[in-house]
Amino acid sequence: MTTGLRRELELFLTWMFFMLIVGAVFDGVLVALGTGMLLYIVWTFYNFNRISQWLAKPSKHTPESLGVWDEVFYQLYHLYKRQHRSRRKLASILKRFQKSTQALPYATIVLNANDEIEWFNPAASHMFQLRSQHDVGQRIDNLVRQPKFTNYLMKKKFEKPLEFQINQQQVLLNITPYGNSQHLLSARDITQRNQLDEMRRDFISNASHELRTPITVMSGYIEMLRENEDETTQIPLERIQQQTERMQNIISELIELAKLETSDVIETYEPIDSNKLIDEVFNEAIALDNGVHSLKLSIKPVTITGNYDELRMAFSNLLTNAIRYTPAGKDIELFTESDETGYCVGVRDQGIGINYEHIPRLTERFYRVDEGRSREKGGTGLGLAIVRQVLDRHSATLRIDSKPGQGSVFSCCFQHAN
Ligand code: ADP
Repeated sequence: MTTGLRRELELFLTWMFFMLIVGAVFDGVLVALGTGMLLYIVWTFYNFNRISQWLAKPSKHTPESLGVWDEVFYQLYHLYKRQHRSRRKLASILKRFQKSTQALPYATIVLNANDEIEWFNPAASHMFQLRSQHDVGQRIDNLVRQPKFTNYLMKKKFEKPLEFQINQQQVLLNITPYGNSQHLLSARDITQRNQLDEMRRDFISNASHELRTPITVMSGYIEMLRENEDETTQIPLERIQQQTERMQNIISELIELAKLETSDVIETYEPIDSNKLIDEVFNEAIALDNGVHSLKLSIKPVTITGNYDELRMAFSNLLTNAIRYTPAGKDIELFTESDETGYCVGVRDQGIGINYEHIPRLTERFYRVDEGRSREKGGTGLGLAIVRQVLDRHSATLRIDSKPGQGSVFSCCFQHAN
């Protein structure tokens, strides 16, 4: 029994004893006890009423009373103080959070389960021209009217960021699900970064185009000189010819890469004649290999969707690499495989293989495991960069599985369209 309840009981018994004495004095014990009881019930209701009034409008002034009521009011007062303190603490955390998100250079918007705006920072207001009084509670796609964005929001596939243009800015936007079906949208202006990228691409493309003509002229003269070569000039002329051919190859691959980087990505590709594509790539490899390796085809029917010429270039680069980096007489296989998620077109070889530390860097421009060997085999260091560029444009991935001395598997893997 709590002290309050014990005190209440003592109070009640004292009161009833008092009423009993009053009843005895005035010769009406039952009436006095009944009246005592009634007054006690009235007192109890009075206190209930005070509690409900306080609960309707809590304040730090709790009523004072006797017995158990005193304890109840005392506990309520402490509960109120605790709640008040934690509310103040929460409010200050929220204030600090809002201050830091307001200072963020990235546009940040909190969306509820119905994509309605719950909160946004000044950077978001500036980027998407939102007004705090009017736009909280509005659906974001009613305010950011951009088909690419609306589509992205509708599809709810937020693993990859979205790049789109709005109010003359190029924006990179991420949406992260959190909390109770809410979403955190963050976006940043990448206009300047894109302009710099464009300048870099233009520079490489222009420089490659500018170099193409003089090298073609040089190569013509070298061929002419080789027709009249003698013993002393034979070796130097041969070397010069090899190097100009190398330069020509590098230039045409640089131009190819620049073309891939600057042309628009097609959102949905059409299925292409996969038998024709694979036959063409395979026959070209047989001609290039000239019987040095045993080339095999292991094909299950797959429906390839994409750009015919780009994919032809990617698969052909993989086969050329396999021919380059596989000792004579070994097997090289062009294969396709598929499952319910997608399909892969790949090349398996029994070549020199690659140590795992190089694998993540192979698609970088001019990255070569063994520069001497690549040069000697006529490599430019750009083949896998082209493959990756083509696959990126097709939302596909390049999988590389290789061990030194045990050969390699390079697979171009595509996901089935939903
Ligand atoms: P390269 O023109 O030098 O072949 P790539 O970009 O095509 O340039 O390939 C980059 C590097 O990856 C190559 O230099 C080589 O070291 C390695 N590589 C590519 N394919 C294979 C393969 N099938 N087997 C072993 N190494 C490979």
